[in-house]
Amino acid sequence: MAEKRDYYEVLGVDKNASETEIKRAYRKVAKKYHPDMNPGDKEAEEKFKEAAEAYEVLSDPEKKSKYDQFGHAAFEQGGGGAGGFGGFDFGGDMGDIFGDIFGDFFGGGRRGGDARRNGPRQGANLRAGVRITFDDAIRGVDKELEITLKEECKTCNGSGAKPGTSPETCPKCKGTGQVVFTQQSMFGTVRNVQTCPDCNGSGQIIRNKCSDCSGTGYIKVRKRIKVPIPAGIDNGQSVRIREKGEPGINGGPRGDLLVNVTVSRHPKFQRQEYDIYSTEPITFAQAALGGTIKIDTVDGPYEYTLKPGTQTDTTIRLKGKGVPTLRNRNIRGTHIVKFVVQVPEKMNAAQKEALRNFQEAMGEVAPSEKKEEAPHEKHEKHKKKGFFKK
Ligand SMILES: [Zn+2]
Ligand SMILES: [Zn+2]
Repeated sequence: MAEKRDYYEVLGVDKNASETEIKRAYRKVAKKYHPDMNPGDKEAEEKFKEAAEAYEVLSDPEKKSKYDQFGHAAFEQGGGGAGGFGGFDFGGDMGDIFGDIFGDFFGGGRRGGDARRNGPRQGANLRAGVRITFDDAIRGVDKELEITLKEECKTCNGSGAKPGTSPETCPKCKGTGQVVFTQQSMFGTVRNVQTCPDCNGSGQIIRNKCSDCSGTGYIKVRKRIKVPIPAGIDNGQSVRIREKGEPGINGGPRGDLLVNVTVSRHPKFQRQEYDIYSTEPITFAQAALGGTIKIDTVDGPYEYTLKPGTQTDTTIRLKGKGVPTLRNRNIRGTHIVKFVVQVPEKMNAAQKEALRNFQEAMGEVAPSEKKEEAPHEKHEKHKKKGFFKK
């Protein structure tokens, strides 16, 4: 493989470029090298792919920061540490990323200059959102979503014309959907291409509108859509449901439905990429003496044998107890547990006595100091022997 170019260089932006600047730069480059604009041009195609790859990384804050730190090595197979691809669009391939940005691009009212205005085009993408729990993100979940979809009007079969009539070719643009006009300006004659104002670019005029769809050719229906959310999905990632977006234009396929997933916070676990972090309280006696304790994991309680003399802030790594990866749910991250020794805030007299005896046994306090207690404290006169008294 040839030496990869720097992503910033590919898009022609500065390292400090803002998100908007990066997006703008990508659109400029992608438009220039778009296969539709350069049919059969291999070099343009390569440039187009290169730009898309650069944009995929630089538009994602997580990937961008990895790239800034490690360069291309961050995304090489087996390099840059596990989970190099932190936030990819699930079900996505390179084509998706084009579809994504161009869906906005074309759907967002691109006007004029497109010679293929009348050709079949994919409909715009629809966007929706769902909120799931932390546990659902670990295990995966099927969510149902109700959305409004435009469907072809059955009365007119999508033509928009009253049954028995048919749309006519627009006389203004002769069916091309575009009008060309020339304008005199201080730079000379300027040739301008614009969407035909009479037919809005469709190339057709409907004289007798279908009454069911008011001539649009579509009716709106509420639909329940199942959204399969894969195990391992992270907050902010999206699931793509193919062809559940806006209807295609001139026979093109429907756009996609992009469902953005918001994952609720967990009271105990925090996630970073595919690893889980949590703190586990242990008592002073457990820390000192060791023993079996139960640690909370996403799989439920996990038995762990604490070493005697465990210090506070000791961390352990439970391999394979983290978040399942999107690519393979059997490959999971690590659960990193930090033990925090709890100091008792309230103790009864017997407990205090035991601790004082312990202090004495450790040689921390002279036996006489033991008696100096605050006057408000209750003085229980018992002769109970402390745990640690010899
Ligand atoms: Zn109709
Ligand atoms: Zn027209």
